[in-house]
Amino acid sequence: MIDKSKSVKCFSEAQKFIPGGVNSPVRAFKAVGGQPLFIDSADGAYLRDIDGNEYIEFINSWGPMILGHKNPMIQEAVIKAVQGSLSFGAPTAREVEIAELICSMVPSIEKIRMVNSGTEATMSAIRLARGYTNKDKIIKFEGCYHGHGDSFLIAAGSGAATMGHPDSPGVTESVAKDTITLPYNDLEVVEGILVEASDSIAAIILEPVVGNMGCVLPVNGYLQGLRELCDKHNVLLIFDEVMTGFRLSRGGAQELFGVTPDLTTLGKIIGGGMPVGAYGGKKEIMDLVSPSGPVYQAGTLSGNPVAMSAGMAMLNHLNENPDIYESLEATTKSMAEGIRSNLNDLDLNYTINTIGSMFSLFFTEKPVVDFESAKSCDFDLFGKYFNEMLNEGIYLAPSQYESLFVSTSITTDMVDKVVAANKSVLASLLK
Ligand SMILES: *Cc1c(COP(=O)(O)O)cnc(C)c1O
Repeated sequence: MIDKSKSVKCFSEAQKFIPGGVNSPVRAFKAVGGQPLFIDSADGAYLRDIDGNEYIEFINSWGPMILGHKNPMIQEAVIKAVQGSLSFGAPTAREVEIAELICSMVPSIEKIRMVNSGTEATMSAIRLARGYTNKDKIIKFEGCYHGHGDSFLIAAGSGAATMGHPDSPGVTESVAKDTITLPYNDLEVVEGILVEASDSIAAIILEPVVGNMGCVLPVNGYLQGLRELCDKHNVLLIFDEVMTGFRLSRGGAQELFGVTPDLTTLGKIIGGGMPVGAYGGKKEIMDLVSPSGPVYQAGTLSGNPVAMSAGMAMLNHLNENPDIYESLEATTKSMAEGIRSNLNDLDLNYTINTIGSMFSLFFTEKPVVDFESAKSCDFDLFGKYFNEMLNEGIYLAPSQYESLFVSTSITTDMVDKVVAANKSVLASLLK
């Protein structure tokens, strides 16, 4: 058995002073019935916990560390920035450089505003969409995550799904009534609502490829269909690419699927591991943002020089090395093929969804295309699987509803190790 005693002790101390012992819920391992590991440091594809155990990891800080940990280029950029002070609260040339670079990598973004998290980006984007369209309601989809802004913590209403209800105490009914929650990958239901109520709908926001109910792909024509519906009904289309931006390609999911949103939200990779988010899109819309327009949005630490330097180093590298995406996909595919062949050998028919460097093994035989099908997984079995894999030195996402991320630090030897562990763990669990 691996010695986790320092993590165990740290967690019990943490629970005295931090709600649930963590600063973001999924880190607590609640969904998998375990004890979180407290991390000391990381290098490449390895996480090291405070007991000195090492794990091959597939979380990448929930996305940002696409080049693995301790990438020397990013480290150097940060160190250099720190030497020039940590924050000014005044504009820097670096902010202009990174804005220019992002606009060139993601052409639907003509102007961009930097914020400090993905949550801030999506909150600001829907405020802007409302300001621009003079309409109040937004449509979002079940199973998509857009951060913890009030407007997004809304569950589907019963019946006609025209009225949402709060998904968390503290979110008011009056906020909930402006969010319509619909099933993902179903164009007809979107069309039905738009035909009925497009006069009151400002925007549709979605993850163009979902990472937050596990990895779920848009069905053929879905994104294109949403684009057409939005055009027809005068509704803005917002792609939340906080996860997929710079991960699925240099230009994100929108480049991969060839569909152009009106607004895009970014985060995670854009900060290279520092806290950064951004939203951007058509000039005409973005020019409504304060101080050029009346839609207010601000941030004391927005465009922080250290964060911008980390992001710049990351994005420059991805921009100059587009072959990274092919190699990430090849690594991910080989892992998926290995696991699929394990499943065949074990007579299991579980679903694997994968695209680019995103990957999910769902403990269900149903195709997973929306939240309803994602819910059909055997969560109990997943929890056991997660903990056994951890004992094998492999750190997967501690929830069936999270996608795995492959970084450029994952080698073929590591893939072989993961595939072998997957087989022995599954075989022992199913005995
Ligand atoms: C992570 C995530 C967010 C929230 O970003 P934070 O930086 O955690 O606030 C929003 N949207 C998507 C698609 C995400 O994956």
